[in-house]
Amino acid sequence: MRLIPTNDELNTLRQEVLDFCEKLIPETTKGLERQGTMSDGDSVEFYRQLGQAGWIGRHWPEQYGGKSCSHLETFIVDEALGYARAPLSGYLLSVKVFGNSLMIFGTEAQKAKYLPMITSGEAILCQGFSEPSAGSDFGSLRTSARLDGDNYVINGHKIWTSSAEVATHMYLAARTDPDAVKHRGISTFILDMKTPGVTVNTFETLGGGVINEVFFDNARIPAANLVGELNRGFHQSMKSLDLERSAMDRIGAARRALDDLSKYIHKDGTAPDGGRLSDVPAVQEKMAELYSQAQVSRTFGYLIARHLDAGTGTSNEFSYGKLYIGLLSQAIANAAVDMIGTRAIFEYGSELAVNDGLLTALYRASPALTLVGGSSEIQKSVIATRGLELPR
Ligand SMILES: Cc1cc2nc3c(=O)[nH]c(=O)nc-3n(C[C@H](O)[C@H](O)[C@H](O)COP(=O)(O)OP(=O)(O)OC[C@H]3O[C@@H](n4cnc5c(N)ncnc54)[C@H](O)[C@@H]3O)c2cc1C
Repeated sequence: MRLIPTNDELNTLRQEVLDFCEKLIPETTKGLERQGTMSDGDSVEFYRQLGQAGWIGRHWPEQYGGKSCSHLETFIVDEALGYARAPLSGYLLSVKVFGNSLMIFGTEAQKAKYLPMITSGEAILCQGFSEPSAGSDFGSLRTSARLDGDNYVINGHKIWTSSAEVATHMYLAARTDPDAVKHRGISTFILDMKTPGVTVNTFETLGGGVINEVFFDNARIPAANLVGELNRGFHQSMKSLDLERSAMDRIGAARRALDDLSKYIHKDGTAPDGGRLSDVPAVQEKMAELYSQAQVSRTFGYLIARHLDAGTGTSNEFSYGKLYIGLLSQAIANAAVDMIGTRAIFEYGSELAVNDGLLTALYRASPALTLVGGSSEIQKSVIATRGLELPR
């Protein structure tokens, strides 16, 4: 594996992804255009073409359909995809949450079967961790997996299940030992979404996308679909969540929102006196502050990539990046709506909408950005207790 690609190689890679997206996004993302963070949406067609072009799971070994490249190169791809406003929800869950966990905890047979299905764009994974009584408190989950012969029988209810409406499989966490204390007795599984007894309900969100709840009614999955050790799912899932928190796509998306805002404020008539907002000192100061913070968030992202490549890094380092980009995305969305003013009420499709209504849509989507993948309060708690070793 080449661990240190040159800056020229990384810039070429970034440009290749941007060119790929520019060609494909208009025709493969119909219906998603109005979403504030299109990266929270899914286009099966875009995902399939992403796989066919070899952009999915490049850091995995070639025997699993990857290119054995560094995590840094994958992070550059993710950042460019986020910048291009590509629909990424299923991609991120398939690669960062499921695939990377399978690389660590999966059997050889599971890796050989599922990773090539992901890299080719054939399999899309969703993540079935959160439940009505188990979000931040993941150890309280109640969905049960009872062994019956060669199968586990699944019963329960998941909520907040992004991409379940398009997913072919779910990375599922369920309770396998009801008598164990809450953080023990949880295991993780691969579940085929076509399994009888699985029902998906889809809801529209404030940000313009969709989210799901999933019910399991005696859904039977092969015992061979257990991922990792029986009853060690809580500890394994903490690793999956760490991997989910390396939010390079959001860093790219935040930078894109800032660049879009920057273009807007340079136009005549954007300031209350008819001039340009870009001439207003308070606006210049705000833009400088947000661009500097965007640079800091990139540095966090690249640091995490270096850690992954070197096999180092601890949970609190992933949490720094996740906390920072969640808050920064909200700050950008708030600043955009402040600067756009009353025209922010016009949405995608209106000729009066600024930037096609996308910055305003980002504002509506942004409350979720400090919740998804673990809330900001939980990131602070990880940093305080694991990073700073403050008392629990
Ligand atoms: C857009 C979106 C997509 C998501 N996609 C998925 C998905 O695909 N799969 C999946 O499994 N989950 C998903 N989630 C769920 C997400 O992981 C949870 O929303 C998150 O973990 C918070 O859990 P909760 O919603 O139950 O809130 P709660 O845990 O009930 O928390 C409510 C509030 O209390 C605070 N809080 C809770 N405990 C503490 C504490 N100990 N100390 C301080 N403050 C605390 C939280 O920070 C939060 O502000 C998604 C969420 C969103 C918003």
